[in-house]
Amino acid sequence: MSVVTIERIETSLIDLPTIRPHKLSVATMYGQTLMLVKVTCSDGVTGIGEGTTIAGMAYGPESPEAMKLAIDAYLGPAMIGQDATRIQALMTHLGKLVKVNHFAKSALETALLDAQGKRLGVPLSELLGGRRRDRLPVAWTLASGDTARDIAEAEKMLDTRRHRIFKLKIGARDPHSDIQHVAAIKRALGERAAVRVDVNMAWSETQAAWAIPALAEAGCELVEQPVASAAALARLMGRFPVALMADEVLQGPDTAFEIARGHGADVFAIKIEQSGGLFAAQRVAAIADAAGIELYGGTMLEGAVSTLASAHLFASFANLQWGTELFGPLLITEEILTKPLDYSDFELTVPNGPGLGIELDEDKIKRFTRAGLTKVTHTSH
Ligand SMILES: [Mg+2]
Repeated sequence: MSVVTIERIETSLIDLPTIRPHKLSVATMYGQTLMLVKVTCSDGVTGIGEGTTIAGMAYGPESPEAMKLAIDAYLGPAMIGQDATRIQALMTHLGKLVKVNHFAKSALETALLDAQGKRLGVPLSELLGGRRRDRLPVAWTLASGDTARDIAEAEKMLDTRRHRIFKLKIGARDPHSDIQHVAAIKRALGERAAVRVDVNMAWSETQAAWAIPALAEAGCELVEQPVASAAALARLMGRFPVALMADEVLQGPDTAFEIARGHGADVFAIKIEQSGGLFAAQRVAAIADAAGIELYGGTMLEGAVSTLASAHLFASFANLQWGTELFGPLLITEEILTKPLDYSDFELTVPNGPGLGIELDEDKIKRFTRAGLTKVTHTSH
C-alpha cells in the first residue's frame, strides 16, 4: 500500500455572533471567531480542525489571525507531502519547527485525526484508546453581568433540561459584589443546580484568601483560577472547604507536572487547545490521574469542530469527576453543522460516525467567512 500524504491545507476565519454579550473578567465578547483548517490527503480524504480562543487576544497569546498565519506560513508548508497517517510523529516534527503555538497545533492535529478516523471508518475517540462513555454532562456559563438575568437564564436551562451545572464568570467587579451575585444565584436555584465560579485570575492572593471562604459559605462548590500564578494557587490549597481548579496556568504536560508535583490544584480544567493538542491533553489527564487530581473538560468557547474533538477525548478519560463545559456551539447564534449536536437531558452525545462524526454546512460557513484572508497551500508538483 502506498503512503497517504498530505496534499493541501486551507485555512479560513469564520466570524459568528454570540446569543448575548459574554462578560468575563478579561473582556466582554459579542462574537466568536473560528479559525478552521481543512487538510486534504492523497487518498481524497479530508479532515477538519478548529482553533478558537476567548475574546481575541485578551485571554491568551494566540489570536485566530495568528493561528491562521502560523499554519499558512510555517506549519502548513512543513506538512505538505508528509505521511498523513503517522499523526504523533508528524506533530513531534512540527513541534521542533514551531515553538509553542498550541492552538494552531491543536487545530491541525484535530484535522489529521478527523481524516484518519474517516479513513479507518472509526470515531475519533477510538484513535485515542476508545471511549468509556457516550454522553458528557455539560455545564453552562452564566455571564450576562446581571444577577436577575442570570437567574432567569438558569431557570430556563433547568426547565428545558439542558444544564444543571452553572459556572459564574466573576472577577470584573469588586469581590464583595461578586460574592453577593453568587449567593443570590445559588439561593434562587438551591439544590436543583450546582454553582461554580471562574475568576479568570482576577484576584490577588489576599483577596482570594477572604473571598473563597465566603463563596464556599454561599454554596459554591468549585473555584476556578482565582489568582494568576501557579505558586499563589498552590498556597491557597487545602485552606477552604471548596475545590480549587487550575485553568490558565495549565499549558500542557510540563506545566501539569509542575502543578501536580507542588500539590497546586484539586482539579484540572483540561483543554485540548491550551494543552497543545489531543495527545498532549491526554498526557495532562494521565498526570492528573497519577497525582490524584480530579478532571474537568474545559472549553475555549470553541465552535462545533473543536468542541467535538474535545468531546471524543473526554469520552475516553478514565476519570471525569467534574463533567465538562462543552457548550461553545450553544453560545453562537448560527448552526454551522448540517445536523445539530444532541444536547439533551443535561448532556452532550458524542457522535458515532467516522472521525469527528460531524458535517459542516458549507453554505453557512461561506456566508460567515472573513473576506480576503483565505490562503491555500498547495503541493508543488
Ligand atoms: Mg476558565
